[in-house]
Amino acid sequence: MQPSPDAPNASPPQTPCPACGRDNPAEARFCNGCGATLRAPPVVAHRPASAAESPVWSLVAALLFLWVGFGLGLRGYSGNALYDGSVTGFVWMARIVGIGLVIVSVLGYLRLRFAVPLNFALAALATAGCLGAGAIWFSFGDYQDSLLLLVFGLVNASAARSAWLQWRHG
Ligand SMILES: [Zn+2]
Repeated sequence: MQPSPDAPNASPPQTPCPACGRDNPAEARFCNGCGATLRAPPVVAHRPASAAESPVWSLVAALLFLWVGFGLGLRGYSGNALYDGSVTGFVWMARIVGIGLVIVSVLGYLRLRFAVPLNFALAALATAGCLGAGAIWFSFGDYQDSLLLLVFGLVNASAARSAWLQWRHG
């Protein structure tokens, strides 16, 4: 088989130095002539998506929290101070996080940086609220709801982690 006449040049690709103009091997990070940096260190490939980056998802989560926060009042109280306190605390957490996520989704839609730390704070609050209330409900034998809260808590922990990484690393 004959190589086509317009086959690519066999010599390795070269990177010209932006400072002195000298050609360097394509994979070089520093110029062989003047030592200038030829390319930035590799950026983190996986950029975690947080709710602040996708207002639609953040709005869905907000509606879920608002529904729980304003619908769970039907649940009723047991008369036990710890159990009733956990229900009240969870309801207020859901209201605060629900309203906060509406604000986050608006800020995220407007591409305001402030959305990311606010998103982290709300996701962290939701994680603590879900896992805390879930543990108390579990101890009272409410296994179905506590399992739901465990899943909810883990989802929020993951969202908090994403928002934290996005906040720290831009
Ligand atoms: Zn150079």
